[in-house]
Amino acid sequence: MRTLPASSVNKYKVNEIFYSLEGEGLFSGCPAIFVRLAGCTMCCPWCDTKYAQKTNFNLTAEQVIKKIAVYPCKTVVLTGGEPTEQNLNPLLKLLKKNKYQIHLETNGANLIDTKLIDFCTLSPKAYINAKTLKKADAVKYITDTKTTLQEIESLQEVLNKKTLFYLQPKNNSKENIKQCLKLIKQKPNLRLSVQLHKFLNIK
Ligand code: SF4
Repeated sequence: MRTLPASSVNKYKVNEIFYSLEGEGLFSGCPAIFVRLAGCTMCCPWCDTKYAQKTNFNLTAEQVIKKIAVYPCKTVVLTGGEPTEQNLNPLLKLLKKNKYQIHLETNGANLIDTKLIDFCTLSPKAYINAKTLKKADAVKYITDTKTTLQEIESLQEVLNKKTLFYLQPKNNSKENIKQCLKLIKQKPNLRLSVQLHKFLNIK
């Protein structure tokens, strides 16, 4: 029996594809195409992308490329849901072949091969894969009034020294922003990441 190449059998569960500005972290304000893959098994109660559990399209890697090729931008953010719950390899290879810069947003629960990924942002949740944590270019740490410097430092100890560490105030609430500022002032290698798109009320 002939085995079909993975790219022709693998269909991605996609929630949405859109062109906008990156709203968080190092690339905040830069244009990017967002490919939001559907589904996440972590089910955090505070999740702000619960709508991404829904699959609106089933697309091959080739079909994803065709949809994003209409935009004049060569940066793609793979986000979710949790993108690493799907086999990303065929899509990553095709994106690279078409000369896209690939940014990945992940909760870090799964082991990922970052060779084809240009920038990996990890937002730790209930479980983190230690090897993936070491490969992160940036950590986005959802911060609330209970977040302590000790928990941040214990995470930083296992990170690559070059990994950027952002505190993101949970729900953008005033109390949580205040807590971020307090922690950053105590530890100046931390950075603040606000969800710019939410403040600007843009998608
Ligand atoms: S890991 Fe992220 S996407 Fe998944 S449920 Fe939690 S907040 Fe939502």
